[in-house]
Parts: sequence; C-alpha cells; structure tokens
Amino acid sequence: MIDLKKCIRSVPDFPKKGIVFRDITTLLAQPQAYQQTLEEMGKYAHRRKADKIVAIESRGFIFGGALAENLGIPFIPARKPGKLPAPTVKQEYQLEYGSDAIEIHVDAIKPGDHILIVDDLIATGGTLEAVCKLVEKMGAHVAGVAAVIDLAFIPWRDKLKTYDVFTLISYNSEAE
Ligand code: AMP
Repeated sequence: MIDLKKCIRSVPDFPKKGIVFRDITTLLAQPQAYQQTLEEMGKYAHRRKADKIVAIESRGFIFGGALAENLGIPFIPARKPGKLPAPTVKQEYQLEYGSDAIEIHVDAIKPGDHILIVDDLIATGGTLEAVCKLVEKMGAHVAGVAAVIDLAFIPWRDKLKTYDVFTLISYNSEAE
C-alpha cells in the first residue's frame, strides 16, 4: 500500500498568502497512487450502495469520472452556473465573501437514486453541502460523500453532519 499523503504536494501561499494548497497533480502523476485512490473510493461506493456518481467541477471530475467508469454506473457533472447546456436545477451557497451556485441537469437525477458525491478536497464543506442539498431537492438520496483529502482543522463536519463522509487523507493543521 502506498502512503497517499506522501503523494500530495503542499504549496504554501497559493492561491493567496496564508493558504497551503494541497496539490493532487503529484498523486495523479503516480499511476499506482491514483489507482489505489480509486480502488478505495470504489469500495466505499460499493459499501454505500451508490448507483450514480455526482462529481464537482473541476478537480472532482478527475476522480468521479474514473470511479463511475470503474463501477459501471452513471457519471453526472455538478457545474458552475451557465456551463451546462440543457435545463438545470440550481443551488446557491455562501462563500466567505459573497455567494456562488452549482447546477445539475434536471434529467440527470431521478427520485430514489442513491448518489455518491465526489470532490477532491473538503475545506469548509460549503460546496459539498450545496451539492448534497441539490441532490435532495431533486428527490434523490445522498448515499455518501467521498473526497481524497479533508482539512480536519476546519469545522466542515458541522455542515455535513447529516451525511456519511469518506476521505483518504486528512490534515490536522495548515502546517502539516
Ligand atoms: P469548500 O467548499 O470550502 O469545502 O472548498 C472546497 C473546494 O475548494 C475544493 O473543491 C477544493 O478544490 C478547493 N480548496 C479549498 N481549499 C483548498 C486547499 N487548501 N488546497 C486545495 N484545494 C482547496
């Protein structure tokens, strides 16, 4: 087994001073680490009986797309407003300054679907919470939330407390 944390590059002061950016591109460049990540996420999807994957633009697509293909289940993109061409359902959410929104095609999710929501990293949990709400608004069930990395020193669990969350790598401080 590969120590996946060793495959993540930490870049201080990106995209702004004080933030340590956790860069997954160094993991993606190591095929065995990428495979191991997808295998672990695949086992989780199986345990949660997920029948569709929703992944969040854009780094979520790198994991969600490969995972859906491996599992032989549908892949559904959750995108920033104005990117999806057909009719969509939208969920707005608050950022530190201002707000943002996320959209999914209306016909991509059906009531009763068991959705696994995938992203690369959980920081505040705000984006994932918005996608969970969107999936529920469409009548589907959130089977689980999977991300490669979580920042455990940020209280994202408050936002996602009603969901089952799976991550592979956890950071307990910005300095780690
Ligand atoms: P949040 O909604 O706060 O959980 O932000 C999640 C999104 O922001 C993820 O999709 C990440 O791609 C990105 N993000 C936030 N903080 C970091 C970080 N320290 N390193 C890399 N990506 C980050």
